[in-house]
Amino acid sequence: MSGSDASETDVLIVGGGILGAWTAYWLSKKRGFSVSLIEQGEIPHPCASSSEVLKSFPLTYGKDSFATAVAAKSMPLWLELNRESGQPIFETIGFLELVSSNGREAEESLRILGELKLPVEKWDKARIQKRYPVIHTPGIKFGVFHPDGGIVWAGRAVGALTALAQKAGVRFFPGTKAVAVQRGAEGVLGVKDAAGKTRRAKAYLFCAGAWTTELLKSWKIPLLVTCHDQLYVRPPFNKGRYHPRIFPVLKSMKEGVCAFPLHFRGYLKIVDMKRGKPAKPGLFAAEEGSSFLKRSRAFFSRFIPDLSEFAEWEGSQRAVAVTKDENPIIDRLPKASNAYVACGLGLESFGWAPLLARNLADLLVGGRPTLNLQRFRFGR
Ligand SMILES: Cc1cc2nc3c(=O)[nH]c(=O)nc-3n(C[C@H](O)[C@H](O)[C@H](O)COP(=O)(O)OP(=O)(O)OC[C@H]3O[C@@H](n4cnc5c(N)ncnc54)[C@H](O)[C@@H]3O)c2cc1C
Repeated sequence: MSGSDASETDVLIVGGGILGAWTAYWLSKKRGFSVSLIEQGEIPHPCASSSEVLKSFPLTYGKDSFATAVAAKSMPLWLELNRESGQPIFETIGFLELVSSNGREAEESLRILGELKLPVEKWDKARIQKRYPVIHTPGIKFGVFHPDGGIVWAGRAVGALTALAQKAGVRFFPGTKAVAVQRGAEGVLGVKDAAGKTRRAKAYLFCAGAWTTELLKSWKIPLLVTCHDQLYVRPPFNKGRYHPRIFPVLKSMKEGVCAFPLHFRGYLKIVDMKRGKPAKPGLFAAEEGSSFLKRSRAFFSRFIPDLSEFAEWEGSQRAVAVTKDENPIIDRLPKASNAYVACGLGLESFGWAPLLARNLADLLVGGRPTLNLQRFRFGR
């Protein structure tokens, strides 16, 4: 099929990850606007950053009170999605940070959550052991527990948002890859897909995750694509102890890992949170003899010895788009008054997607955002 899309739409979204899905959902609530979303694969796309089973939802960002406030303001929006979809997508199971270094950043998190009147507790070793007996505490100085932190069932969220948006009139085009963005003096004129069809809209949103740089080449988006190891581990015994009802998200800054409760065919996940190596977008098999396997075993030996002897595991590497200062980019494309880009959520801002997307939806239809987006601009 080739040619031009005769039925011009008000907003065209490119990319059906968490940002695209949330923006489509918010736009679907703005009556009278027509919206289309194109996605190169299926929705959710298995290779997208958002498609994994679970993501962590922290409220602790050290002294960064703005980040904590953005996460906190996103919580009711996730809960609204739980209600509207009738599915448990966001769950506040509790988030425990194990502190074994100087603890300065953890102390700042305690202070900021306190100032924002968000529940948070500083736990000594005895308290950690009492609440989570599987956790070993030698070498830990203290723990920071915030009960409102938790998990988002990521693939389920993308699926639910697209289903709700579609019901409200948004048109989805999976299997449609944008290959070129046509520019004019005033802005974007159209988006050409791999089948040769040009799709036109009054406003455009590009949220193509790790593929953004390639798609928006001529704008030179300041994004890095890095790769992160993740391991799915089957507990050798007493699986029930790691159920999300009784096991938190566990993070250790010093070790640079985040461990999750049991969630995937009896497996639990552990993710490398350290800055990854430059990579191409996508999902890849774990490298032979991956050092992350050894690091994961070392992490478990130290903190959850019952898990250290795991024999069954699956590993992979997934790419993600990050910025130098680890803040997302939400901005109008330079010299394109009708086009926006949203990307670079990095490894800890997945939970911000509903709030960022609601502000994007306002911008796309000429409204005023309620969040100060200065921090997310190109020229910050
Ligand atoms: C291993 C790993 C673990 C992570 N864990 C966490 C965590 O625990 N907590 C947290 O907050 N964050 C985490 N993250 C980060 C988080 O997942 C991402 O920041 C977030 O999902 C990015 O969402 P997105 O919508 O911007 O991009 P994506 O989810 O990548 O979506 C982009 C979409 O655009 C589509 N697309 C791309 N190019 C085109 C094109 N040309 N035409 C049409 N469609 C196109 C893609 O197919 C894709 O579906 C993790 C990331 C990784 C890699």
